Amino acid sequence: MADFCVFMDKLNQQTLKVAIQKQGRLSDGSVDLLRKCGIGFSNGMGKLKSSAANFPLEIYFLRDDDIPEYVADGVADVGIVGENVLAETQSKLSVVERLGFGKCRMVLALPKDRHYSSITDVAGMRVATSYPRILQRFFDANGVSAEIHAISGSVEIAPSIGLADAVCDLVSSGSTLFSNGLREVETVMCSEAVLVSRPDLSPELKTVFEKLLFRIRSVKAARQNKYILLNAPIESLDSITEILPGINSPTITPLADDGWISLQAVIEEADFWEKVDSLKAAGAEGILVLSIDQLIR
Ligand code: ATP
Ligand code: MG
Repeated sequence: MADFCVFMDKLNQQTLKVAIQKQGRLSDGSVDLLRKCGIGFSNGMGKLKSSAANFPLEIYFLRDDDIPEYVADGVADVGIVGENVLAETQSKLSVVERLGFGKCRMVLALPKDRHYSSITDVAGMRVATSYPRILQRFFDANGVSAEIHAISGSVEIAPSIGLADAVCDLVSSGSTLFSNGLREVETVMCSEAVLVSRPDLSPELKTVFEKLLFRIRSVKAARQNKYILLNAPIESLDSITEILPGINSPTITPLADDGWISLQAVIEEADFWEKVDSLKAAGAEGILVLSIDQLIR
């Protein structure tokens, strides 16, 4: 029995605990990322934690504000959280990987009709925000003295109810601010979801974490790339290979039709549409573009 307990302890020690947001803007992205890493788990409503079926991982579902502290305290080993939350909680955790989702900006916004030419115009204003520390640092860096009102939600309505002259809030498109009669005047910070880890992982947990990180990086690389297949007349080969360098060089196969070839390559998502336009101009036809699940380099 004692031996069995020691065995179970060891097993538990090697299970990496990852904290993700329970419900909110980072939840779907975090669950989706872990699933794309081939990790199976249930995340039924109201669950506090879940064990992965096929990977030594336990998933904790928490409020995003609490994640840095839980990871720093060792309750969880790693976490997925917005950079804005890390900055606000002044967490010392280091960012292991930027994850490419949950992208947003923290902006300073004023009522549309209020004059603004530079940050010094904000001096003396009352500014409502849920991120008082980040905002204070921004004001300090710009030598501005203003009154910060920390409120926990619905920041955008503060000017219209007379609670503040300006707001500092997170936006992705900015439409919420716009529909509340506000206009962005400064970007205070840009943020995205990041993976953080406690610094003192045991060698066993580090091994599990590195395995997870390898999968995460493969999923990220896959998302940044597309697989492209096309047909082209053989005389276009040189110009098409120039457009399509791919990870290595493109794969080229002859078609049954004389004088025609088929090419396959991996291209970056960022300049994908420009490449498609140039490929068509170079004579490519029947262009197929496929998403990639994982890209192992
Ligand atoms: P919780 O209940 O977990 O404390 P919350 O209300 O603080 O949730 P959400 O609104 O779900 O947080 O946002 C979580 C994170 O999503 C933010 O901290 C930020 O990093 C990111 N995010 C991405 N886009 C936006 C956006 N348009 N507005 C707010 N947050 C955004
Ligand atoms: Mg929160």
